[in-house]
Amino acid sequence: MILLVDDDVMVRLMAAEALIASGFEVMEAADGEQALELFDRHEFSLVLLDVSLGGIDGFEVCRQMRERPHGRSLPIIMLTGMDDTHSIDSAYSLGATDFVTKPLNWTLLVYRVRYALRAAHTVADLETSERRLAVAQRVARLGGWLWHVDEDRCERSKICLDLWGDTPSSLHEEPFGLLSRVLSPDRQHLREAMERAREGEAYQMSFRVQRDEGTVVTLYEQALPVRDEFGRVVRIEGVTQDVTEREQAQRRIRFLAYHDSLTGLANRQMFREMLDHTLARSQRTGSRCALLYLDLDRLKRINDSYGHTLGDQILREVASRLLASIRSADLVAHDDSLHEEVVARLGGDEFTVLLTDLSRAEDAARVAARICAELGRPLQVTHVELVVTASIGIAIFPDNGADPETLLRHADMAMYAAKQRGRNTYEFFTEAMQQQAVERLSLEQDLARALESGQFSLHYQPQVDSASGRIVSAEALLRWEHPQRGMVSPVQFIPVAEETGLIVPLGEWVVLTACRQMAEWRQAGLPVVPVAVNLSAHNFRSDSLLTSIAHALESTGLPSSYLHVELTESAVMQEPAAAMKTLGALKAIGLKLSIDDFGTGYSSLSTLKQFPIDLLKIDRSFVRDLPEDGSSASIVEAILALANALGLGVVAEGVETAAQRDFLCSRRCGLMQGYLFSKPLPADGFARLLGAVPRQA
Ligand code: C2E
Ligand code: MG
Ligand code: MG
Repeated sequence: MILLVDDDVMVRLMAAEALIASGFEVMEAADGEQALELFDRHEFSLVLLDVSLGGIDGFEVCRQMRERPHGRSLPIIMLTGMDDTHSIDSAYSLGATDFVTKPLNWTLLVYRVRYALRAAHTVADLETSERRLAVAQRVARLGGWLWHVDEDRCERSKICLDLWGDTPSSLHEEPFGLLSRVLSPDRQHLREAMERAREGEAYQMSFRVQRDEGTVVTLYEQALPVRDEFGRVVRIEGVTQDVTEREQAQRRIRFLAYHDSLTGLANRQMFREMLDHTLARSQRTGSRCALLYLDLDRLKRINDSYGHTLGDQILREVASRLLASIRSADLVAHDDSLHEEVVARLGGDEFTVLLTDLSRAEDAARVAARICAELGRPLQVTHVELVVTASIGIAIFPDNGADPETLLRHADMAMYAAKQRGRNTYEFFTEAMQQQAVERLSLEQDLARALESGQFSLHYQPQVDSASGRIVSAEALLRWEHPQRGMVSPVQFIPVAEETGLIVPLGEWVVLTACRQMAEWRQAGLPVVPVAVNLSAHNFRSDSLLTSIAHALESTGLPSSYLHVELTESAVMQEPAAAMKTLGALKAIGLKLSIDDFGTGYSSLSTLKQFPIDLLKIDRSFVRDLPEDGSSASIVEAILALANALGLGVVAEGVETAAQRDFLCSRRCGLMQGYLFSKPLPADGFARLLGAVPRQA
């Protein structure tokens, strides 16, 4: 029966469950008083005792238990906080047998309890009688032996013979002769220890022995030289114990702690230790290493569409391909055990490869290229065939970073650059990337403050009716007046706002500001035209989109027909089914919808046909080379024909020349927008354009 003392109900619940599942009986106490009371009324074989209890604490409980007659020899395992060496020391000094750190690992806990009980049996039994000693020795697989130094022979007990896999015929044996059965890595150590024992020095060590039938066991041996009255060593007394199981359990625990359970590769913990170790060594020897940081492209999408079981299988396959590409690289040692530590999975779809003793940086590129090629081969998982590619960033030690953190950060930056360059490729870290990252971070920080400190404004660019030349609508374009940098282009900051999530409040601000502006113009009696706002995919997917638009219209009293919305093809096509619903809802409020930058995405025509949109905006890149460029001309003509067939209006963007205008007019493009008519203007400038008197700013 085990007494489990902890004031945390969860810990008690989980620990009891783990112990009961392993066949133990458990009694629980929630505080020290209750623990001592139970301790006096029942007989326990082991106590698990939390250090910090309400009331009298764990140390005191441990001390009091040790004072009780039945508490002297039973094992008490203390539960302490991680790295709380102070507690651990106090616990030992008060008589604790062992300690386990929190948070508890339930499997480990059961192991610890088993070993403590096993050891306790041995101790308790030794205390009672010879007979029980023999039993205990058998249980503990503990064999005794006597080495008569003068006669150079060793007398071994039955158990000891069993441990070595020997028969009674080899009862008396020349002690050093036994060494031949010890595995070679351990043999020399044992020989030296034995030689020193003959000189009078005690030893304790474990070594591996190959038995005749082939099995290998780990034995733990303690030896104590005994001297005669003249101080000569006459014999050496020893015990040998079979610790194979314990060793295996420890190895298993170590393996679990240092490896990723899905792929069997080294985990983050092991990787960090390897990296520290490798860099320190390279520092000493003045050699170079390369850190490859690898991220799978679009694994999330595969997970989302095929499920995690398939995702897991892919990760396992990727791990084995990584190992294969490293093995075939002649750069790395041919010892298999080393490979395991060279490749690690940091978590998710991120892996690292550590290459040591690199003669040239290009060698790292060779490995990276091989990995890309190896991973790029189609992959057959269950009944689906997929291609999973990786983007790899490379940082070289010491050139790109002299410490583990810097090297990792730089490899990560390079990986990011590889992804941006189009995935399935590798990039070396460069100083420019560092510069860019710093730049971007400061942009991000400034952007976070820009909205509340009123640094944004809207400019308005007219959209002109081709036939009449009249301004019929306008597009609101966001401007950021940075206090130091001056005007920052939306092309630069919109992607940053999208990544940081600022785009959602920013988009709402744009809608509200445009509505307020139009309401103000209306009140001032201007001939207001509808204004189109740009919404990013993030705005489009945001839950607050509809309410914020409804609120903007309501609070300004603006009729919904004045508000238009521009969305890019990709924003709409990402999840067509969801997009359909949102578009329908926007339409129901009464907004006009346009598809921006049309022609640059990959719209499916059949899908497009079902969307309740009003306008297509021909992207500037097609207008730019009109009318000379034949292919631009035919694309524009095709878009116009398509729009006509679907009954949609068309706006041509970026019209800068009269020739472009004339071409578009002749092809019956309904609306035009561009510098030819007007650049985007601040609100007062646009108001003047609408034919109003100049207003005070
Ligand atoms: P867009 O929606 O395609 O906007 C048209 C861009 O073309 C604007 O650039 C405009 O100034 C520019 N442009 C107009 N006429 C001409 C011309 O004749 N020649 C040339 N070369 N350019 C012309 P801008 O203002 O720099 O905006 C760039 C992009 O930033 C916009 O492309 C839009 O995607 C995004 N953006 C701007 N404001 C917002 C906003 O409020 N929200 C969101 N989500 N995105 C915005
Ligand atoms: Mg636009
Ligand atoms: Mg556009």
